[in-house]
Formats: sequence, C-alpha cells, structure tokens
Amino acid sequence: MKKIREWAIFSLFPRHCAACDRLIAGDRTFCDECLDNLPRIEGEICASCGRGKKECACKGKANYYDSLAAPFYFEGQLRKGLHRFKFRNAISNSKAYAAEMAVTIAERFAGIEFDYITEVPMRKSALRERGYNQCALLAKEISQITGIPYKKGILKKIYDTEKQHGLNSYFRRGNLTGVFDSDSPEEIKDKVILLCDDISTSAETLNECSKMLWLYGAKEIYCICAALTKKRGDN
Ligand SMILES: [Zn+2]
Ligand SMILES: [Zn+2]
Repeated sequence: MKKIREWAIFSLFPRHCAACDRLIAGDRTFCDECLDNLPRIEGEICASCGRGKKECACKGKANYYDSLAAPFYFEGQLRKGLHRFKFRNAISNSKAYAAEMAVTIAERFAGIEFDYITEVPMRKSALRERGYNQCALLAKEISQITGIPYKKGILKKIYDTEKQHGLNSYFRRGNLTGVFDSDSPEEIKDKVILLCDDISTSAETLNECSKMLWLYGAKEIYCICAALTKKRGDN
C-alpha cells in the first residue's frame, strides 16, 4: 500500500533533475550523470570571492562582507537548471540547491553562530511580476535544513537599476550605490548575518547589500550563493 501511495505521489509530482531537467525517481535532486559532473568549487578557495585560487582575480580585495562561499560555478547543465529556477518558475529546484548550499555553509563557515539568514531583495514591482524572490526561497530552505533562523525582508531594494549584465564594472558600481536600504536597523545592529543570493557575477550586489548592513552596525556579514560565474564579471 505504501509503495502504491509513493508511486501515486511520484506520478502526481514527478521530480526533475535540478540541472538537466530530465525525470528522476524517488527523493533524488540530480540525475546520475549531472551528479557526476556538477561544477563544484573545490580545492583551495579564496575566502573573499569564493572562487578556486586558479579562478580568483580579486586578489583578496576588501569587501563589506567577511567572506563569500558557493557550492558551484555557473556552468554546464547546472547553469540551465538555475536559469529555469530564476526565470521559468522551476521553484522545486530550490530544494536541491539549498541542500548543497547548506553543506557549503557547514564546511566553509564552520563554528560561526549566525543570528539569522536573509535574502538579497528584489524591487516590489519585480517581485509582483515574477511572483517569487528566488533568493528568499533558497534562504527559507537553508533555514529549514540548518536551523539558522530566517528573517524575511531585512533589506529592501529602493529603486530599479539597469540590468546588471551588459554594464561594465565601473557603471555597475555606480549603478548600485544607494539602491538598498532597511526598515529594521534594530534587527541588524551587532548581528552576525548570512546573506543569501542565487547567482553572483561580480559580487557587487552582495557588496552593496553588505554595505548597508555594515552601516547599520552588523557585527559580521557572510554571503552564500548557489553559483558563481567562473570569471568575475563573466555572464
Ligand atoms: Zn541531470
Ligand atoms: Zn578571490
């Protein structure tokens, strides 16, 4: 009976690989082929940009956050999966990415007592249009897995910016200054905060968000992303 019920549930809610999208059985998140080929960030890793030492171009540049980590590079089949998650409503993929991000947090941020995890915000109009903030979905899932409390909407995005990609880094920086703010500075002061993003290209969005947290007196700021472009600024 249990088997039948499981099969019925599986049939109603078929699972797809969170990278290549093919149908997979049971409680798995990636198909075998993708699992063997996930573009993991491994080996010696730069704490400042989150990339492997070979890919690091930041030379340990100072940021408003203390450290950044991600399980993957934004490449191959995973890149397609993340695109579906971000733009095409593949919300169930969040569980697969969050599970990997939780492992990365345990490995790279071991021993840090986070007060809470929160998300990189979206502009209200953009949120209405898309219907969900993919960074908030990831943050909530990570909270469930790790037990780190989740706080929604600590930061807000005040106004829209030109699309980040397509602008060079000089304009990107200028484009983000003062874009973010907070309605709850009392929730930020003296706190150890984990900031959640989906895909980071140059970490300038994360750095601008962190700047607001820093200005409101955050004690320590850490960033977790699902994936980073292999080269800084590479789309
Ligand atoms: Zn796959
Ligand atoms: Zn680096």
